[in-house]
Amino acid sequence: MEALTEAVLRDSFVNCTKGEAQRINLPGPLDEIFWEQLDFLGWRDPKAELRAYMAVPWKDGVVGIVLRRPQSKRGGSLLRSSMCSLCLTVHASSGVTHFAAAKAGAAGRAGNSVGNYICSDLQCSRYVRGHLRSEAATTMEESLDPAEKVLRLRSKLEGFVRSVLGDEL
Ligand SMILES: [Zn+2]
Repeated sequence: MEALTEAVLRDSFVNCTKGEAQRINLPGPLDEIFWEQLDFLGWRDPKAELRAYMAVPWKDGVVGIVLRRPQSKRGGSLLRSSMCSLCLTVHASSGVTHFAAAKAGAAGRAGNSVGNYICSDLQCSRYVRGHLRSEAATTMEESLDPAEKVLRLRSKLEGFVRSVLGDEL
């Protein structure tokens, strides 16, 4: 994806208020990010454990999405392993998180959200390129090459952005 400036990134969020977008904790210096190796920018809030963010290229611009994850339940997850719905990487239980995203616009203000299982570290772009490997013992062997996985990730991302934008599309 193309490099984003802080102003463009903050302006891109579709499911929070302008004020909230201004206060979002960024992942670090934006000029140190290898943008050309990313299909989307995803990061966990460095100061708020239950929040994460995505910025996804969309048409001529970018769509920013605030994600929340539920408070972890006592006793931990019963899931032994699970799969990211965007990049289809199989992880051990903590490697995938069920994130919820408020929908954009009126639907979101009315309390509607969409949920998705996504790599907990939001590094899907790096998993599909083989720059990161899942910690799961039973990694599903796939015959797709990295270029095909990138295309599939982009198509899944588009579907997710559409579900968040909903009527605001
Ligand atoms: Zn993923």
